[in-house]
Amino acid sequence: MRYEDMEYMNYEHILRSIECDLENPSRADIAKHLGLSRTTVSTITNTLISWGVVSEGKGLSVSRGRPGNPLAINNRVWKVLGASFYSSSWMFVLCDLRGKILDTHKLEVGHPTPSALVASLIEGLQYMKGLYGDHLLPAVGIGVPGVVDTKNGDILFAHDLSWKNPFPVRSIVEREVGTKVFMKNRYCLAGIAECRYANPTKERNMIYIGLGSGISCAIFVDGKLVEGDGFSAGRISHIQVDPDGKQCNCGKKGCLLTVANEWALVDMVLAGRTAGQVSGALASMSEGNIDGESVGAAADAGDTFACHCIDTLAKPLGKVIAMLVDVLNPGKIVIGGPVGYSCEYLVRKIERDLKRYPEYPPVANLRVERGRLREPGSALGAASLVIEHKLELLYPLFSSRLQDF
Ligand SMILES: [Zn+2]
Repeated sequence: MRYEDMEYMNYEHILRSIECDLENPSRADIAKHLGLSRTTVSTITNTLISWGVVSEGKGLSVSRGRPGNPLAINNRVWKVLGASFYSSSWMFVLCDLRGKILDTHKLEVGHPTPSALVASLIEGLQYMKGLYGDHLLPAVGIGVPGVVDTKNGDILFAHDLSWKNPFPVRSIVEREVGTKVFMKNRYCLAGIAECRYANPTKERNMIYIGLGSGISCAIFVDGKLVEGDGFSAGRISHIQVDPDGKQCNCGKKGCLLTVANEWALVDMVLAGRTAGQVSGALASMSEGNIDGESVGAAADAGDTFACHCIDTLAKPLGKVIAMLVDVLNPGKIVIGGPVGYSCEYLVRKIERDLKRYPEYPPVANLRVERGRLREPGSALGAASLVIEHKLELLYPLFSSRLQDF
């Protein structure tokens, strides 16, 4: 191994100790934790402080019995930009290196073709760069629909939007915006954000289910996202739940997507209105305003017909989640996406069905929760891809200065 590689690894390990492994450690804590000399830790820590990545508190930290100034990730210098396509709009977030959202911006996309989506993404990124360019890490994170080749930055296909051909989002954005791009599926990113920034118990085995026009899930095993050989791990929407069911865009019949997404829910309400079975807010609402969110809110308010629609959707969805629980034995299931975030009734229904036999080992300690981050969550997850790569982004910018240390 070259000296430079070893030195870079020391940077990585020290930064990880400050960010994840230890709580506000002193330099002495890090030296002991990593088995490095205090001089090496001090030199690298000084460099990270000079780059604006790490900050040193005043006063003595006595964590783990070794006093010293407490170190933390610096949230005042660098800002990070993330964007995700969510519920027919691009959501842009600006956050600090600790994942705190500082600003948001939203752009509606009319008819979401791949070209229209990318044109509007570029417009929004250029707007945000214009506002905050001087303080931004030199990359953006992007969340898109469909199955994403995260190595090449292409959307391979998105059956819920009837996109069947690969589309090179990353190369177009990198060329037009002039910045490096990290990219993943939008629901995976919402899951990453829930796992990193809304997970106070630091659960490492969890599954995030995103429920909207598409259905997807992000699976975390021992804290790591499972991507799969062809980038499609977690694609539960095309699990067949009814072999004689409706034709799906993927070519099969009766996929989960055909019976349990937002549009299936809207169709149930519209059919119920025609049959005169709907009363209350959903009966008086104009047809265009009925969406997953309004049905979820009506169910939470006790509307009998809305509860019936959610129960109908929860049945096949719950079966698929039960299979995941048997296979993966997660400690926590988080339900999000436009429908999941808006409906506590759905979350409790899925929990009741999963825990019908509460002593059954895979569910004995399982918690089922509604996602906490809501609309900006996926864009925050996109920004977190940039935060994750901050060292690799900043190291080349500052590497000439390293000779001074
Ligand atoms: Zn399908």
